[in-house]
Amino acid sequence: MPHKKVWGRRLLTREVAQLPKEILNQVTYQRTASVMKRNQQIICQRCGQITQQQEAKLNEEDYYCPHCLFLGRNDTTQELWLFDQPPLFPRQIIFTWDKTLTIEQAKIAQRLTTQVTDHHLIWAVTGAGKTEILYPLLQLLLATGKRVAIASPRVDVCQELLLRFTTVFPEEKIVLLHGKQQVPYTFSSFVICTTHQLYRFYHAFDLLVVDEIDAFPYVRDQGLQYATETAKKPDGQLIYLTATPDERLLKEIRRTFQIHYLPLRFHQRLLPEPRLIFWNNWRLCLNKRKKMNPLIKKIQTLVKDNHVLLFCPSIELMNELQMKLAEWLPTINITSVSSKDKKRQEKVQAMRHQKYEVLLTTMILERGVTFENISVIVLGAEHEVFTKSALVQIAGRADRKGEFSNSQVCFFYHEKTRAIKKAVKEINMMNKAGRLLQ
Ligand SMILES: [Zn+2]
Repeated sequence: MPHKKVWGRRLLTREVAQLPKEILNQVTYQRTASVMKRNQQIICQRCGQITQQQEAKLNEEDYYCPHCLFLGRNDTTQELWLFDQPPLFPRQIIFTWDKTLTIEQAKIAQRLTTQVTDHHLIWAVTGAGKTEILYPLLQLLLATGKRVAIASPRVDVCQELLLRFTTVFPEEKIVLLHGKQQVPYTFSSFVICTTHQLYRFYHAFDLLVVDEIDAFPYVRDQGLQYATETAKKPDGQLIYLTATPDERLLKEIRRTFQIHYLPLRFHQRLLPEPRLIFWNNWRLCLNKRKKMNPLIKKIQTLVKDNHVLLFCPSIELMNELQMKLAEWLPTINITSVSSKDKKRQEKVQAMRHQKYEVLLTTMILERGVTFENISVIVLGAEHEVFTKSALVQIAGRADRKGEFSNSQVCFFYHEKTRAIKKAVKEINMMNKAGRLLQ
């Protein structure tokens, strides 16, 4: 079925040329200018962004769009091919989930299934089970022949979502798409992809869910907003999921989205509130064991009850600290994982099976992963990589699953930044609301 390679796609001439030629006889499509010149400006039809002519010059005659270069250059030598997709038929959906929604989750799920023409934002604390809230809606849409996509800015989150959805929808052929994918695209009514993949779809989805909407500056990334709007069908539904929404996003969508708030976790316990531990010039202490006592003692205490995720602001610091800790704490099983680690998947999997007592990491484990019996330490919480949203997400790794195990969250900091204060304030506020539901 070669035409399945193009249904619902938005491709450049160069990308179409790589496909088998007979496809074009089997499908319907429109061809449009891919980059347009108007007055002194260049308008990209793929990412919707405008550039001044002098900044977009390729040669004497041609222009390109500098905004979406990461997808392969879009320029005036290309056309944009917008492929139609056929309607799908109603069918039976196999759904196997052995748990039930909480009353609060069920209320939101019901609103999603009854108000399918509205856009929704689900603001749910970390560990509230926002993915599960989608199950009834997904069943309904797939059963009525609709096409759905779930997009996240992070590859790791996509992998985790695929795992969860293939478990509960065992008969569905769910396609996973991201930049490092080797397998060529093929049509499926259920797609999980990174947000960047949305640039390659056109009017394809009846439902488009964007998970972890706070993980990228969505309201400031007009290209991504354009891709999201145009990847779905014109009358398609949008659902945004977040644990810690951007204030600007909330303001922007207030009139066009229904906002649902879920302040209590699935297991009905509150979020662990971060303990703030001031550590003057902690960076200067890394070479001496004695000076590292605040961290070493904290690790020794925490590993008595739980395994520990230790977040570092950079890979270099993480590597250095791992070497030192291995020397100073020889009886504790310590490892590290970062975006550059080739064994990243295996290590995360091993941590799920509680193979390490301490896992040093960077921002890659900030969201989307769930481990049982976990305490969390952030070293250098004042660093700029630890935004409010990142800190709330990181704190949310603790006490997500299983019985209560005295999980703790500790932020070691040299300077109490706005992000630290705002993260603590937001967690306290959510717990205040959560208490009313307990
Ligand atoms: Zn562009």
